[in-house]
Amino acid sequence: MSQVGVVRVAVDRGSCCGSGNCVVAAPEVFDQDDTDGLVLLLRPDPPPEAADRVRRAVETCPAGAIHLTSTTGP
Ligand code: SF4
Repeated sequence: MSQVGVVRVAVDRGSCCGSGNCVVAAPEVFDQDDTDGLVLLLRPDPPPEAADRVRRAVETCPAGAIHLTSTTGP
């Protein structure tokens, strides 16, 4: 029996170039700062139904600024 991983998200604002791809992919998880355009993380613990969109954000981020960790619960 496989465990469903719980995705947690972290962003590196120092690497972010403000392209906004992550906001397009998963607007419920990411936003952009009104002042500098850099990523804002709205949901470090997105719901499972957002996992595919979060992965798409990671794949389309040109700066590699989004990182995922998965934990498997008991
Ligand atoms: S896709 Fe990456 S570089 Fe673009 S705003 Fe989001 S975190 Fe920043």
